[in-house]
Amino acid sequence: MARESKAARRERALKVAEQMSIRYPDAECALRHSDPFTLTIAVLLSAQTTDAAVNKVTPELFRRWGTPEAMAGASPADVEEVIRTIGFYRVKAKNCIAAAQMICARHGGSVPQTMEELTALPGVGRKTANIVLNNAFGIVEGIAVDTHVFRIAHMLRFTSADTPEKVERDLLALYPPHMWGPINHQWVLFGRELCVARRPRCGQCALSSESLCPSARTVPE
Ligand code: SF4
Repeated sequence: MARESKAARRERALKVAEQMSIRYPDAECALRHSDPFTLTIAVLLSAQTTDAAVNKVTPELFRRWGTPEAMAGASPADVEEVIRTIGFYRVKAKNCIAAAQMICARHGGSVPQTMEELTALPGVGRKTANIVLNNAFGIVEGIAVDTHVFRIAHMLRFTSADTPEKVERDLLALYPPHMWGPINHQWVLFGRELCVARRPRCGQCALSSESLCPSARTVPE
């Protein structure tokens, strides 16, 4: 692909968004949750683990400790026992309890609604905070960059950055704010179905047939 101007890249990005919205008009968070607190905990648990694995442990976790008050008083060993099938369960159990304690101590038992306060919670980074703000409170401050969004942004050559934070910065510059909301959910589904990590299914991908992806393979699968 010849060097692309900023205007051309922006135009391509808008067309990509249009294709994503056609394919995933109702994309939403796949993690089971019932309120801001359970969403925060579910996203915290999902780091380096599949949503399906998290969804297997959260029914019992939330049955026992489904509020900040209950989780704040849980014992780490008991929480570990419930979430032991997911990766990094020991540190995640510790973070769940510490986050709940901070929510109770500093925020009156309610999950805070700002990026700064959310990212101050143990185990909560910018990705988790973006998902909580967007899904629980309808506040869109950024784009949650997980492994799928990171990979697809590179495949589409919307970024060459090497950290999620820098990739987010590049995507925020590319898309107008009113389009930030659905990107994470749509790209996660797309990353699971078509633009999969090891072998992207370019032959079935509309971004390939519409000449919107510089990484599209020319050989059919
Ligand atoms: S054409 Fe291939 S590499 Fe590009 S977005 Fe589609 S599946 Fe991914």
